[in-house]
Amino acid sequence: ARTSTDRFVVLLADGSADKAQMIARQLGSALRSGLQLGAVDSPLDSTFGISLAPEHADNAADLLRRAEVALNDARASARPSLVYVPGSDERFRRRLELSADLRRAILANEMSLLFQPKLRVSDGAVSGAEALVRWHHPKLGEISPVEFVPLAEASGSIRDLTRWVMRAALQQAAAWRSLPEMQIDLAINVSAADLVDPELGNEVVALLAELHVPSTRIVLEITEGALVQDAAAAARCMALLQAIGVRFAIDDFGTGHSSLSLLQRLPVDLLKVDRSFVLHAHEHDEDREIVASTMGLAHALGMKVVAEGVEHQASWDVLASLGCDYVQGYFVSRPITADALVAFVRDRAQSITPRPVSEQRLLRKPGTA
Ligand code: C2E
Ligand code: CA
Ligand code: CA
Repeated sequence: ARTSTDRFVVLLADGSADKAQMIARQLGSALRSGLQLGAVDSPLDSTFGISLAPEHADNAADLLRRAEVALNDARASARPSLVYVPGSDERFRRRLELSADLRRAILANEMSLLFQPKLRVSDGAVSGAEALVRWHHPKLGEISPVEFVPLAEASGSIRDLTRWVMRAALQQAAAWRSLPEMQIDLAINVSAADLVDPELGNEVVALLAELHVPSTRIVLEITEGALVQDAAAAARCMALLQAIGVRFAIDDFGTGHSSLSLLQRLPVDLLKVDRSFVLHAHEHDEDREIVASTMGLAHALGMKVVAEGVEHQASWDVLASLGCDYVQGYFVSRPITADALVAFVRDRAQSITPRPVSEQRLLRKPGTA
């Protein structure tokens, strides 16, 4: 049966998941061999979602919906076919519900920010903090940005989310203006879609002026994906902000596909080595090699290196010996509220006695409080 424009249902009267996948493969290859449209031979792409009765559902409506969920998952993971995995229907509904709810939640102020401190390795001082968004859903409780940021990106509400985060973070920076110890860097995450939006740059410039926040305090964290998607648009936005002193960090470095020439051309000040490499750098030679060569590369290009995901003393020691500039991670501190960050900064300032530069060292290792 044909259920919509490009959607068809095949009912197998008896069979198994294996048989259904075999038939999906055969149908897929028949379609790929093409359709003759006049003089044009047109190969057809196809994706299959499979659900089974009675294992996955015992009525037609549920069976079709679950086949559709499997189809969506197959598309999302670029696989030719997938069998429905029990539970993914609920996840699918949750995603739909959260996506539909995001705009309302942003307006209703259900978002908040936490701040994770970043330490300078040479003297252990707090050099900055990264703003990380949180969603307190009235019905569903705490929702992780790992779940809702990709939904915001996919559903087009990421610009609203970023506007909210940007304003909230800069308001916080403005509130810290009267505290001398809080004149630290503030890092804000921006998504690929933000960076190619021609409005972002001007909005940030206006917001900095409105709230009287020095632009040289601000670091925007962008992922490699954002640069690769539309390098020209990203470069325009970055140039505009760089001209007023905003700095840029490449986030999750090592997981994307940015080319060295691209990195060299863009005004990037910091590389954040992805935590997947940092987590085991003290015990796996390969991870340590990746971290070490990333640092060599960054330093050669005139950038500083931040290691994220530092969870143990052993990681800190390895990173320090490799010449890492800044460190962030649970070993130093989890993301904390704005007030807790002020207390953290004061506490650390007290534990570090100023010394001549040549003698500077970390008097109290983080995490020992
Ligand atoms: P990210 O930018 O790589 O942020 C770092 C994430 O790693 C944070 O998770 C942080 O809590 C976590 N983390 C910090 N230290 C450690 C550690 O030692 N070990 C481990 N295992 N994890 C650590 P969080 O806050 O859940 O954020 C997850 C991701 O969500 C962020 O990854 C970022 O991609 C995105 N995100 C968060 N806030 C924003 C935002 O305001 N805007 C945008 N566009 N994305 C955001
Ligand atoms: Ca980040
Ligand atoms: Ca990261």
